[in-house]
Amino acid sequence: MPRVHRYAQIQEALRQLGAAPYRFQQILEAVFRQHVLQFSAMPALPGRLRTALAEQFGDSLLALRSVQSSQAAQADKHLFALEDGRRIEAVAMRYRAGWHSYCLSTQAGCGFGCRFCATAAMRLQRNLSADEICDQALYFRVQGQPLDSISFMGMGEALANPNLFTALECLTHSRLFALSPRRLTVSTIGLVPAMRQLTEQHPQVNLTFSLHSPFNEQRSQLIPLNRKYPIEDVLDALDAHVAHTHRKVYMAYLLLEGVNDSRQHAAALAERLHARGRQTRLFHVNLLRHNANTFAAERFARPSEAHIHQFRDWLEQTGLKVTVRSSFGDEIQAACGQLHASAQEVVVD
Ligand code: SF4
Repeated sequence: MPRVHRYAQIQEALRQLGAAPYRFQQILEAVFRQHVLQFSAMPALPGRLRTALAEQFGDSLLALRSVQSSQAAQADKHLFALEDGRRIEAVAMRYRAGWHSYCLSTQAGCGFGCRFCATAAMRLQRNLSADEICDQALYFRVQGQPLDSISFMGMGEALANPNLFTALECLTHSRLFALSPRRLTVSTIGLVPAMRQLTEQHPQVNLTFSLHSPFNEQRSQLIPLNRKYPIEDVLDALDAHVAHTHRKVYMAYLLLEGVNDSRQHAAALAERLHARGRQTRLFHVNLLRHNANTFAAERFARPSEAHIHQFRDWLEQTGLKVTVRSSFGDEIQAACGQLHASAQEVVVD
C-alpha cells in the first residue's frame, strides 16, 4: 500500500506526463473548491491529460462509495464500501451550536479485542490507505458540509495504522484540505511508540487516551493491549506529549455500571493523574456513557445519570477537570464503540 496520498501521486504523474505545474493547481481547484471528483468532468484540463490520469488513477477521485446511511436527531451514520468490497462506517454529528464534527474510521475492523467494543467483533480486516481515510472527509466536504472537526474514533485503532500519519499530512496541507491540526483528534488505547511519533510529527493534533480503568489488572481485562503497554508507560508518553506541546490531553473514561464506576475507581484515577505533578493541569477527563451493542464480547450496562454525575463530582472534588460527554447517535448504533459495519458483505482474503 503506498505511503503517499493520491494528490502527491497525481503531481508526480503530471510531471512525468510533461504537464505544466499549474495543471496540478487546476485539479486541486476542481476537487477542493468546485467539488468535482471525476477527471472526465474537469474541462480545464486537456483531453489527453484527462484520459492519461483516468487510466492511471481511475476516473473517480473517491476511493469509497456510500452504500447506506441512517439519520438520527444530531448524528448521521454512513456505511461506505471500499474498492475491495470491505465496509467501514463514519458518523457525522451536528452540535446545536452549529458545529459539524466527524468521526472517521482508520481500519476495516480492529484486532485489539477490547471487551466492550462492537468493532472488535469484526477482527482486523486491514488498514485503510491514507486516501480511504481522507476520502471519508472528502465525501462530507463535497456535500457542502463544513469540516469543523474530525476525530479518528470510528472503526479501528488509529495509531495502529501507519497510513494515519500520511492522512494527517493530507488533511492539514494548505493546498489540500487545509484543516487546522487543532481541529483533529486522534484517539488511542495506548500504543506508546506511535503516540511518541504523533508528539514528534503532529504536536498540534489533539490526543485522547482511552483509559477506562485506573487498575492495570482490570484494564488488561477490558483492553488486552494494556498487558504490553501498562498505564504507567502510557502516562509517561502523555507527560512527554504535554511537555513537548504544552497542549491539553484528554483521558476518555467509559463508565460501565458496577465495573469501573465505584468511589475507589474515582479515587485511584484521581491519584494516578495527580501523581503526574505539574502536567496534571493539562489532563482533562472525558466521561463517556456506555452504549449497549449486540456485537461486543461482553455485555455491560450504563450507570444511571445520577451516578454518572456523582462520579464526575468525585473527580472534580480532587481538582481534576472533567466533562460528561454527550452521546450522539445511540438509536442508530452510531455512538462510540458501536460501529460494526453490520451490513457488510462477506469478504474472503
Ligand atoms: S475500542 Fe478501539 S482499539 Fe479497542 S477494539 Fe474497539 S476499535 Fe479496536
